[in-house]
Amino acid sequence: MTKFIFITGGVVSGLGKGITAASLAYLLKARGYTVAMQKFDPYLNVDPGTMSPYQHGEVYVTDDGTEADLDLGHYERFAGVTCDRHSNYTSGKIYSRVIAREREGKYLGATVQMIPHITNEIKEAIRSADKEGVDIVMTEIGGTAGDIESLPFLEAVRQFQNEVGRRNAIVLHLTLVPFIHAAGELKTKPSQQSVSILHNIGIFPDVLVCRTEVPMAEEHRRKLALFCNVPQELVIEEEDVKHSIYEVPQELAERKLDEKVLQLLELPVAESRMDDWNDLLDRVLHPRGSCRIALVGKYAGLRDAYKSIFESLSHSGIALRSRVECEMIESEELEKSPERLEEFDGVIVPGGFGARGVEGKVAALTYVRKRGIPCLGICLGMQCMVIEYARNVLGLSKANSTEFDPETPDPVIDLMESQRGVRQKGGTMRLGAYPCRLQPDTLAAQLYGCQEIQERHRHRFEFGNAYREPLEKAGMAIAGTSPDGNLVEMVELKGHPFYVGCQFHPEFLSRPFHSHPLFTGLVQAALQRKETASHAQTH
Ligand code: GLN
Repeated sequence: MTKFIFITGGVVSGLGKGITAASLAYLLKARGYTVAMQKFDPYLNVDPGTMSPYQHGEVYVTDDGTEADLDLGHYERFAGVTCDRHSNYTSGKIYSRVIAREREGKYLGATVQMIPHITNEIKEAIRSADKEGVDIVMTEIGGTAGDIESLPFLEAVRQFQNEVGRRNAIVLHLTLVPFIHAAGELKTKPSQQSVSILHNIGIFPDVLVCRTEVPMAEEHRRKLALFCNVPQELVIEEEDVKHSIYEVPQELAERKLDEKVLQLLELPVAESRMDDWNDLLDRVLHPRGSCRIALVGKYAGLRDAYKSIFESLSHSGIALRSRVECEMIESEELEKSPERLEEFDGVIVPGGFGARGVEGKVAALTYVRKRGIPCLGICLGMQCMVIEYARNVLGLSKANSTEFDPETPDPVIDLMESQRGVRQKGGTMRLGAYPCRLQPDTLAAQLYGCQEIQERHRHRFEFGNAYREPLEKAGMAIAGTSPDGNLVEMVELKGHPFYVGCQFHPEFLSRPFHSHPLFTGLVQAALQRKETASHAQTH
């Protein structure tokens, strides 16, 4: 029978529940188990697709086109699982299903209630992850114990655990044991209180994972065990890692979290094979080279808005055994002073929506194109590459995307046919994995090492086909298209060290053990630029 692990959070948000869950999944996989992962988000939005990155960070996209919470990125990257539409449920999604069923008369006149209708729907969502061949389903409950919104999810977990039995479903509670600097002490009270909230609603956590800044003492474990009703050996500390999130699986393995979880679930504890991870960590901690990449975005300082891009750069660093530093630069600031980019070895112009910051991105692109600074344009970034080239090389000074200037005489980027006239915002994008055919003799084909690729998309606008020929004649190569040739997927410039744009989001497919070819290509070119520059200086 499939086993279930529920992860809840207490005291504060932002404790890294997603990383902890994904690390545990990796450890279970390293012991030979097949794990499926999902996240429940208690907010009322039907999906995170229409949410601002300011609120919840980037919107992650899966192969099947689900717009999801960024924690799914951790699951796919750390645990090597493939997520889909069953991997992320919000309260909005759950409620709208129940309401739709009610409208269809499916409840046969019953009074529709939180219990059992909403909780049944949630339990069905848990079971939807239990597919053929899955040994363990891991479900992370977003939010913090005590939130009103997460109550129905926790109630469903209580019922579920009761139905399948406590040997088949366990609850792991991630909590904070804060260090009070003035007193020089760790405090267990907040964790006691958060566990007592769970006790009040009938959930008795089986494992307590404690995030701490400094090592915990025996005394703290004893106290937590006593007050939280958890055996002392199941109070596990997760101290802040020193250098990199890639240290988390190792730390949890040292504390035997995976072993203890398997024992609770009465599953055999097979030998753990973590060689791949140990090698990875060695590469992260002992790099040989380094380079600096500028990320020209518009959510200043908000690294979560570009989470997968940062992760992809570290994957390239792992592949090339180099430290890749990435600095965010507000694109609006570059409109007047793009020469700031000179101090970087490479540049990424990421995806985005809305006009703000676009002119800064275009100015940045003119600069890096002319100066030969390696640059990767992603989605909106590629669209800006096309706009920039049309304006400054083709001489179409008003060229634009109809997203930013609906009246432009030269719509080099325009809505897809099927999107014209659509007013609704949610659920109208080209989403998920689509094939792309690469042109032979392009840098793209060389980097990927094959002719046909699959990449994940999230956009409404497209390269305007009327401008294909003139742009090609002016030197912009169309490096990839949809297999029918209709949609331009990739552009690049010959004679530039690295100037590549893609309409899709490569950052969603980069993995710690399989760095994405476009990011590796960029970082390689950046390392080269740095080396050439330092060579020039010493001669
Ligand atoms: N706003 C652009 C579009 O909708 C780009 C989207 C993106 O960068 N993800 O096509």
